[in-house]
Amino acid sequence: MTSSTPCDQPVRSLISTTLATPALRADRWLLVLDLARKWSTTNAADIKKSLSSSLEKLDEVERFFAYPGAQLLERLKSCLSDDDNKAFLRLAQRISTTIVSRKYHRDASAWNMDDHDDEPLNRLPQAITHLKSTPYFEVLSVVPHARSRWPLIQEEARGVRRAEDDFIYQPVIVGNAQDALTGILLNPDIGAVVLYEGFTAQSLTENPLLAAFQSVIDFSTIGDDETLVLQLAQAIKKIRPEMDIYLLSDRNIETLAGKPESRFFNRIFYQMEEPLELHLSILEGIRNRYKTPFFDNLKRYAQRPIATFHALPIARGKSVFTSNWISDMGEFYGPNLFLAESSATTGGLDSLLEPTGNIKDAQAMAAQAFGADHAFFVTNGTSTSNKMVLQALLAPGDIVILDRNCHKSHHYGCVLAGAQPYYVEAFPLVEYSMYGGVPLRTIKQALLALKAHGDLARVKMVDLTNCTFDGHVYDTRRVMEECLAIKPDLIFLWDEAWFGFAHWSPLLRQRTAMGAAAALTESLTRPEAQQAWDKQASTLGNAPDDETLLNTRLVPDPRAVRLRVYQTNSVHKSMSALRQGSIVLVKDVDFEHVESQFHEAVFTHASTSPNLQIIASLDVARRQMQLEGYGLVSNALQIALEIRKQVNSHKLISKYFRVLNSAEMIPGAFRQSGLTDYNDPSISWDKALQSIKTDEFLLDPTRMTLSCGAAGFDGTTFKNVLADKFNIQLNKTSRNSVLLQSNINNTRSDIALLIRVLVDIATDIDKKIADNDEGYQKTFENRVHALVDDLPELPNFSHFDDRYRDQPKAPTLHGDIRRAFYDAYNEAECEYIPLDSPEIAKRLQSGPALVSANFVIPYPPGFPIMVPGQVITQGIVDFMRKLDVKEIHGFNKALGLKLLKRVPGKNKG
Ligand SMILES: *Cc1c(COP(=O)(O)O)cnc(C)c1O
Repeated sequence: MTSSTPCDQPVRSLISTTLATPALRADRWLLVLDLARKWSTTNAADIKKSLSSSLEKLDEVERFFAYPGAQLLERLKSCLSDDDNKAFLRLAQRISTTIVSRKYHRDASAWNMDDHDDEPLNRLPQAITHLKSTPYFEVLSVVPHARSRWPLIQEEARGVRRAEDDFIYQPVIVGNAQDALTGILLNPDIGAVVLYEGFTAQSLTENPLLAAFQSVIDFSTIGDDETLVLQLAQAIKKIRPEMDIYLLSDRNIETLAGKPESRFFNRIFYQMEEPLELHLSILEGIRNRYKTPFFDNLKRYAQRPIATFHALPIARGKSVFTSNWISDMGEFYGPNLFLAESSATTGGLDSLLEPTGNIKDAQAMAAQAFGADHAFFVTNGTSTSNKMVLQALLAPGDIVILDRNCHKSHHYGCVLAGAQPYYVEAFPLVEYSMYGGVPLRTIKQALLALKAHGDLARVKMVDLTNCTFDGHVYDTRRVMEECLAIKPDLIFLWDEAWFGFAHWSPLLRQRTAMGAAAALTESLTRPEAQQAWDKQASTLGNAPDDETLLNTRLVPDPRAVRLRVYQTNSVHKSMSALRQGSIVLVKDVDFEHVESQFHEAVFTHASTSPNLQIIASLDVARRQMQLEGYGLVSNALQIALEIRKQVNSHKLISKYFRVLNSAEMIPGAFRQSGLTDYNDPSISWDKALQSIKTDEFLLDPTRMTLSCGAAGFDGTTFKNVLADKFNIQLNKTSRNSVLLQSNINNTRSDIALLIRVLVDIATDIDKKIADNDEGYQKTFENRVHALVDDLPELPNFSHFDDRYRDQPKAPTLHGDIRRAFYDAYNEAECEYIPLDSPEIAKRLQSGPALVSANFVIPYPPGFPIMVPGQVITQGIVDFMRKLDVKEIHGFNKALGLKLLKRVPGKNKG
């Protein structure tokens, strides 16, 4: 393993320090435990001193967590001052294991003051003996009272608990707004906040973490009490929009309740009111997020005795459990799966296609959770979501600006809708045989070219992938602003198949489609937006040339903009939904005008037998993210940063492997902040935040491209080695890399496992090189060279053949992909030429042009290097010949390239 054990406190970058809290906390406690052990055996004075300073450092963080709490900490400190090293060790052991195992979430005895204490500190009502099934959270109270009164406030909060409570919480108290925000950032267990009016703004201790977040949360500490309360509430919502906030005020709360800002509060109370009311409200707030309307009903449905006469023999499991031959299926899945199966929409099961009951409610809750106006559950994956959106919003002949490397559902969606794709190119990463994202300049160029050609009115949509498979995240807001400056009613489809989790990171949220749409909606109503547009109009004058427009950071005209944003999201890829669980999120001011089309598209693509378990899992995934998404996502990010650091700093591993950093994945031109690596210990928070706010592209840390070329592995081979020998699964490879991802299910043990495996493999390579002769070494070097240096140029999209374009030789790139697609249905109009035939060179030289009859999609890299109607160039042929992958969809090696023949009289151009 590496040098980074909990004991030597590795230097962490600032970013990871923020995210790491639960992990970092555990590390710190393990350090205390380690010292405690040493102290108990040696009784050395210097160790006691280290312990004392460790405890002081712990205090800075521990005051934001309910466990162990001030009393247990005091007890620990007194063991230290009493020189009772045995008692100290016992207590340190108990506290640290409790924190690491999070036992205090489910076991009341964890809160006992000491081993013999029979009165638990949190004094649960007798009836709640099984904490296990009672979800746990913490409530942050921000109070004006003197510190000496805090234990009383905590006592009071615990005192109102009742046996019938469905959740249990512990209070955490802070005395000012800055500490409140720090607590919200650090402690993912906080589920509700209670503001007691009269608290102060500033913390006594400097807080670098909060200073760092200032620019994200725009929090200033000026103004009177009321302003402070509102500011704090707003700042909390910026970090965690799902948070319940309660205000206890002792003045005229009716006027406050009438203000628009009061929307930040779940409820406003008089300070003097019944504590029980507050307690019940807090539970109610959590219950509202916990509610899963569809899943709850499905569970009820499964418990009812029901005789079925519909067509689904498997429902209720009778055909399974009584069978001689398939009862093992019943044993494997258990009865509930079958009890929860039905093809009826009665019994409160609702209809996904025409929801009026609990599916409608569940979708409304999802919309709110994801920051959208509408949400639609889809049970056939984002592949279907994309096709639905494209078909709903585009008609034959409409033009869509489309990333050529996007998922194939978009290309097929264009075929189905009859929309004409105008392919735009992502920046290439030739060294790794992959693509990044599409530069904004390229998108603007496409719009301006279409405008110059008189076709701007036909452009309906810009359709991009955020983030890409390899982790390139757009500046969604800027892309939309600049495009809307050119055409104010453009629709945006952001394919965020991988990126749904980002909503639960206060840093990444602004880069999601919905996050950016919300920010844009708000900023467009401000007078500054109009001023910016007016200023731009006067600077640019009447007819600015394209070059000027390309070089200007454009702003849209707020009066003209119709903000129309769609986001599709494979919930199953980053949250706890079953496979194919997907969601379409909508924030479209004109949605009412397309709603009926949208429903038609749903009817076109959705199954009439949607899978109920998938719907239920979408409902549940939303619940989970709303209640623990913040902590889970922070953890996934932290694990990614840790893996990146461990791999790249490990002496042996880094000889052969490397996780590519921002600088390697994103050319400098798109990384204006200059940030190169999240783990660079010298980067300042300012720079990191600037990067998140303004870089044209940002690397999603959780998507880790592990280059393996220097180890002599191509991506596919390495993937198989990991799967066959080490049971590590992953799904994407490139010529010389594999993609690792961390998500909400990863733990720190996964890091250790990966590092172990990479050490094993690297050791093996070292050994083989040492044990074999020079010939072996030469072969190894050659293989590495072929993988690392000798890489095929990535072919750009060429153009559609003239017969599929509006005009021959038109300067714009869109084409009628649908007509080409159907022309290929006529066998007589197609021909095949093998890739190695001399005919190819002849045709490339002197025509007629080679026109692809279908999509050709090699895996990897997984994008269509030919689409129907596209002219095949030398570059594409070269790439195909060099391609050494087994899986190429749409290409039959024996037959060769499938081409559309030129049919006299039929084809124009
Ligand atoms: C996986 C993926 C899809 C398809 O989603 P499914 O849920 O697998 O149907 C679409 N777009 C992108 C970018 C994807 O990665």
